[in-house]
Amino acid sequence: MEKRIQGSTGLYALFGSPVEHSGSPAMYNKAFAHYEMDYTYLAFDVKEDGMEKAFEAIRLLNIKGGNFTTPCKVAAARLVDRLSPAAQMICACNAFTNEDGVITGYITDGIGFVQNLEKHDVSVKDQKIVIFGAGGAAASIQVQLALDGAKEIHIFNPKDKFYERAEQLKETISKTCPGCTVTVNDLAEQAVLAERIASCDIVINGTIMGMVPFEDVSLVDPSWFHKELVVADTVYNPEKTKLILEAERAGCKAIGGKGMLLQQGAANFKLFTGKEMILD
Ligand code: NAD
Repeated sequence: MEKRIQGSTGLYALFGSPVEHSGSPAMYNKAFAHYEMDYTYLAFDVKEDGMEKAFEAIRLLNIKGGNFTTPCKVAAARLVDRLSPAAQMICACNAFTNEDGVITGYITDGIGFVQNLEKHDVSVKDQKIVIFGAGGAAASIQVQLALDGAKEIHIFNPKDKFYERAEQLKETISKTCPGCTVTVNDLAEQAVLAERIASCDIVINGTIMGMVPFEDVSLVDPSWFHKELVVADTVYNPEKTKLILEAERAGCKAIGGKGMLLQQGAANFKLFTGKEMILD
């Protein structure tokens, strides 16, 4: 008989919709079992309009922590008691802890991304960075890059519904991290993009381009790569995007998005338990 779940077992949970295909319960339960911790992790299908009740449940049932996924990340940030500096800057959170009834929201996508670079011996401190994207993943990475000491962040995005958000984030970063210069350009400004890439250290794709069904797309012309350039993608499906394959061919250090996914899980687990996640 299963002995792991008993009367004393503490609950961690994921809130969002849909959640039935989420890999989080399997990942965290395996890690709890590895450390013989008396916790379990479940997923609850909750939409934005259910978040107030979800927070009542978190408090009533003393849910110890967990995650928020689409479409609940912004609503959750309004309902927590405290926000981490990064979560405050983008007004969204994807992870939380509940310590003696005080619920703190965090955003760990950016932490996972930067940790994955560090695993590949790449530091963002004092670096000049070009990043494509202004959606959820890109914004959390941009904030983390600034908090971790990047010197310049040059954002390129099409003039779609996300563009204005990038301009707002530029203001927020400039106030919070005055040592970091942020620019925002239309992706259509290809000459400016080529110039920025020529003088930058790291290029990051934080858009959906390169992901299935856009796997034939890369936002970087291969003639722009230079040998000192580090190229990183957030996309992990396919594991090696067109951008990553072309960067490798040009002799650049190229880092795919799967490690970000794993490191984000590790960052969450550390928040929950203070322990290192087993990543195999
Ligand atoms: P989002 O919907 O919030 O943002 C989409 C972004 O793509 C926006 O910046 C948008 O302007 C851009 N975009 C859309 N069409 C474009 C086009 N034709 N040309 C250039 N840019 C275009 O999405 P998100 O949640 O931020 O996810 C973005 C990517 O990050 C996805 O590929 C996702 O798989 C990846 N991601 C990876 C991880 C990880 O752990 N590795 C975590 C989160 C997201």
